[in-house]
Amino acid sequence: MAKIGIYIELDKGTFKKSNRELLSLARQGGHEVCAVMFCADAAPYLDELKGVRTVIQVSGGDLSYQPDRYARTLAALIAEHRLEVLLGSCSAQGKDLFPRLAAMAGAGLVNDCLAVDPAARKAVKPVYSGKLLAEYQVEGGCALFTVRPNVIPVQPAAGAAPEVRAAAMDSGDTPTRIVEVIQAAAQRIDLTEAEIIVSGGRAMKAKENFAVLEDLAQALGAGVGASRAAVDAGFAASDMQVGQTGKVVNPKLYIACGISGAIQHFVGMKTSKVIVAINKDPEAPIFKKADYGIVGDLFTVVPLLKEEIKKVLG
Ligand SMILES: Cc1cc2nc3c(=O)[nH]c(=O)nc-3n(C[C@H](O)[C@H](O)[C@H](O)COP(=O)(O)OP(=O)(O)OC[C@H]3O[C@@H](n4cnc5c(N)ncnc54)[C@H](O)[C@@H]3O)c2cc1C
Repeated sequence: MAKIGIYIELDKGTFKKSNRELLSLARQGGHEVCAVMFCADAAPYLDELKGVRTVIQVSGGDLSYQPDRYARTLAALIAEHRLEVLLGSCSAQGKDLFPRLAAMAGAGLVNDCLAVDPAARKAVKPVYSGKLLAEYQVEGGCALFTVRPNVIPVQPAAGAAPEVRAAAMDSGDTPTRIVEVIQAAAQRIDLTEAEIIVSGGRAMKAKENFAVLEDLAQALGAGVGASRAAVDAGFAASDMQVGQTGKVVNPKLYIACGISGAIQHFVGMKTSKVIVAINKDPEAPIFKKADYGIVGDLFTVVPLLKEEIKKVLG
């Protein structure tokens, strides 16, 4: 039985879906699970944390995300609680925090895992732009893993309520400090956690035309993404970019509209469960990768699709 820690990520106080995935993974196999969260009060989240043995609530002072202070606090907690494994989400914050933590704690790290066996300290992750899957094993010290959102099925929280223990935030000086966080547009769905994504490419031709995709996305409860060509042309915001130099997404359904299917885009969405491509060129490479293809002009097809989906969903 391993002693497994989970770094719980809150988004403006909201318990992120990726936490539920990590908890589902850690609860398998009867391990001793310990959740670490940085918040003034863990009580509102305890229902989500059933089955976890201990919740370490880090509080005191400024709790805003400051990478060095968070990493030093976590490194101290790993040592104090003798955690053998620490899991986190491969989110923007996870990708920033875990490498610092690995350096501070002298721990091994595997980022962006598609599967993790915590007891064996093993993980599988894509390498070479997703061309290969490699298996890693972390030896010695605490094994750190960040897991790609949406790869682990969520099991409902079950079991006894956890014991809550208080811990103090590191108060030392920090060489780097986040001075401002610029929020994305208010209602935008986080693409890395979205279950459905509708994306547009260069074929969108103008920023205003993304309204066509937003209508479809609204009917589906989906997030809206974009290819780099669409972002570079100023049709879409940079936080919407999917691909090698954008976000890696893993939804249940990915609808690519007017996107050719270049490898750099494909690596960002290839693990989507179902890929639908809409393209007017029947030879477009995206059709070789899609589960379903519609040959046609997206400005005709997308509104029709929206109407049909609305009928089906009532
Ligand atoms: C180092 C590097 C990193 C990169 N990183 C990324 C990345 O992260 N993400 C990314 O997306 N790209 C990335 N790229 C760019 C990538 O190589 C492609 O250039 C880009 O993905 C192409 O975008 P696109 O498919 O929208 O445009 P295009 O390749 O121009 O394709 C447009 C498609 O729209 C179709 N079309 C046109 N009009 C219509 C219409 N009315 N209806 C339906 N279909 C229509 C066309 O047939 C065509 O297939 C990167 C490139 C490099 C070199």
